[in-house]
Amino acid sequence: MSLIYDLHCHSTASDGSLTPTELVELACRNNVDVLALTDHDVTHGLHEAWQQARENDLEFIPGIEISVSWRHQTIHIVGLGIDPDNPVLLQGLDSILDFRQSRAEKIAERLEKAGIAGALEGAEKFAGGEILSRTHFAHFLVEQGYARDIKQVFKKYLVRNKPGYVPGQWAELEDALNWIKAAGGIAVLAHPARYSISTGRLKEFIAEFKELGGVAIEVVSGSHSQEEVFRMGELAKYFGISASSGSDYHGPNNAYRELGYLHQMPSQCQPVWETEHWLEMIERLKA
Ligand code: AMP
Ligand code: MN
Ligand code: MN
Ligand code: MN
Repeated sequence: MSLIYDLHCHSTASDGSLTPTELVELACRNNVDVLALTDHDVTHGLHEAWQQARENDLEFIPGIEISVSWRHQTIHIVGLGIDPDNPVLLQGLDSILDFRQSRAEKIAERLEKAGIAGALEGAEKFAGGEILSRTHFAHFLVEQGYARDIKQVFKKYLVRNKPGYVPGQWAELEDALNWIKAAGGIAVLAHPARYSISTGRLKEFIAEFKELGGVAIEVVSGSHSQEEVFRMGELAKYFGISASSGSDYHGPNNAYRELGYLHQMPSQCQPVWETEHWLEMIERLKA
């Protein structure tokens, strides 16, 4: 039987609702064999998860999901096998955290103008870590009865052309890839079917990503339909780039998929865990 690789999920260190310890415990219950924790723009949860994984004999990959702006589009890049304390990575992430803070203030101002008071304090209440994400605003808005669930509240308030939307100014692609590399990790394009860009644009992105050292695209994602898994599998094959797999789990009430419950990897894909890049990354982690 093939192993279960879940290489993308979130804890309370960013916008997930389980602590790193709870996530590792859930991964064990769900028979995950290899787990990567990939919080948005922070590494704070990784030591706790790693320690818990050691105690539970779970193979753990410390990861990150970096917010990038590419041609006015927000793109997420997952780094796998990073050193959580690498100064180059941490310094890079700091610039993103600064933007997150000022954006959160602007989101709250905009919501205030739309008649919703106290959103900054409200969102902070849902943030367990050091970052403020739109997800935290979403939890606040649902709590206040502005929508029935997270999905609905994004649609009504938090996406482009809605009252609580502020455009992102995230990291440059090349910088994000350099930080991941400096920290010993390998770069994976997160949930490629989820961006609202044309296939032509997506192809241009993947070509550039590969050229700059990106090693895989997330063919299997909790946010992809079966059809999207196949389509992304075709794209990976077309570019000769390997394929990754992750649920993008955020917690019990906010999940695309349950942790560890994933579509099968299409047979034409080369899984990232069967590449040289992966083996070298594992060696670095053990060193
Ligand atoms: P941010 O990085 O703060 O802009 O927030 C992005 C996060 O919001 C993503 O990582 C998702 O967890 C969440 N998100 C974005 N769009 C949606 C949506 N349509 N429904 C539910 N969650 C979403
Ligand atoms: Mn998220
Ligand atoms: Mn993402
Ligand atoms: Mn994610």
